[in-house]
Amino acid sequence: MSNLADFLYRSAAVYPDKTAIVFGDVRISYQELKSASASIGKGLQQQGIKPGDRVVMSCPNLPQFLMVYYGILSAGAVVVPLNILLKPKEIAYHLSDSQAVAFLCFEGTSELPLGQFGLEAFNQVNSCQHFFAITSSLQTDSWQDQPTLAMLLSNTPMDDPEDRSADDTAAILYTSGTTGKPKGAELTHHNLAMNALICSALLATDVNDTHLVAMPLFHTFAQTAHMLHAVTSASTLVLMVRFDAETTLQLLAREEVSFFSGVPTMYIALNAAVDSVGESDRQTITDRLRLCISGGGPMPLEVLRAFEANFKVTVLEGYGLSETSPVACFNTTDQERIPGSIGRPIPGVSLKIVDVDGNSLPPDRDGELAIRGHNVMKGYFNKPEQTAEVLNNGWFLTGDIARCDEAGNYYIVDRKKDLIIRGGFNVYPREVEEVLLAHPDIMQAAVIGVPDDYYVEEIMACLILHEGRELSPELVKTWARQQLGDYKYPRYVRVFEAFPLSATGKVLKRELREWVKVASKE
Ligand code: AMP
Repeated sequence: MSNLADFLYRSAAVYPDKTAIVFGDVRISYQELKSASASIGKGLQQQGIKPGDRVVMSCPNLPQFLMVYYGILSAGAVVVPLNILLKPKEIAYHLSDSQAVAFLCFEGTSELPLGQFGLEAFNQVNSCQHFFAITSSLQTDSWQDQPTLAMLLSNTPMDDPEDRSADDTAAILYTSGTTGKPKGAELTHHNLAMNALICSALLATDVNDTHLVAMPLFHTFAQTAHMLHAVTSASTLVLMVRFDAETTLQLLAREEVSFFSGVPTMYIALNAAVDSVGESDRQTITDRLRLCISGGGPMPLEVLRAFEANFKVTVLEGYGLSETSPVACFNTTDQERIPGSIGRPIPGVSLKIVDVDGNSLPPDRDGELAIRGHNVMKGYFNKPEQTAEVLNNGWFLTGDIARCDEAGNYYIVDRKKDLIIRGGFNVYPREVEEVLLAHPDIMQAAVIGVPDDYYVEEIMACLILHEGRELSPELVKTWARQQLGDYKYPRYVRVFEAFPLSATGKVLKRELREWVKVASKE
């Protein structure tokens, strides 16, 4: 048996009464979660869904997410979780690109009419035959004349998940919209099982751990680092529908959370909200929280240090991508932690730095990071050409510029596409952002390239200031110029109230570049 869902069935057999999910006041045990998933699996099979069929799901961080995800896996089908912020046309693209036969979609709310969007998309894609509404109440029989999850849940649970082999695809994850048209990374049962088990081993998590899930489960980071990981070790998952700093701090205390992970923007917001927690809650947080993980984007040193001081906890930075299940590289607790470094490859995974011709580079040279190992996807679903561009002899080209030091620690220098070339000189935005973030008035910084007649690209600093602070462009430039080579300091400075963010909280630089298209020199 190699079905990724085996872990859920095993945790339910060993710890049936252990709380698997906390959502508001609702608590769901491992036995209840398994039973729901096993019924959904059976229901899908009775609808004619066969092993290997693609089943798309769109659902926020509700208990239903886990029931449906494991239900699809139980049926032996391939789960395709979508970003819940997609609009009908985009959903239709994903339904047809993945050649889905069924679509399970949350009914939505007045703020986010996901069900309407989903149904509109479903009606445009003839090849997708089944639509089920995921309703808030598991008892609701029909929604907009469509069957609901209740119909699938009414089936007798299957005893065991459908048998799959290790190399069969378990999930197709569409990579985040920061990189052109979405492509579906095909991840096998083996890819994901290994990554979840390695998370458990490296973080020494067990049945006593409680995770707080503030990131969307449809994204690879929360999916593996929280959901799949927690289920392998029968830990508890506390779900948040959306991140906000004050609620996060309240939940950390109320649920005595031991493990938290987030993208850097979340840590920035939590640092800013630290005074919103009372003394005794703060004490509970510092007593119980034993480990935090940052990933998904570069963690500014200042932010990491402030968070560690505020909550007396270690923050470890990891690195990965949808295409690598995702974890590839990690700082672990058993080696000296190097802030600013993404650590070393996880067991069974190799990394190398290559030049534009694919030749390996020696330590301390910047180049593209390539990854090989049990975490690397099969390829992009139905896209042999795009797959061949990034996968060669088992090595996956990440599109990230990185460096490895003599001791074997890796550092992400920047994203290949975000690199700014100013008058022929390479400027890595991250380096400039680190300098800007060290300024006491600056809360967030995103450095981008904007068109320039002379230099082709010029450097622009987009900033969000701490509340009540003011900072002139001249002062920003002077600050940066004191610490950076002349070709690197920003010539344009813009202050924003907020940045365009992806659903996972990453700054969407492409969109930011659109915002500032008509740039004028300050
Ligand atoms: P996604 O496939 O949505 O998970 O995006 C993966 C991308 O996130 C990578 O290619 C990196 O550009 C970025 N990323 C992930 N972790 C880190 C990190 N620790 N530091 C810098 N960038 C990161």
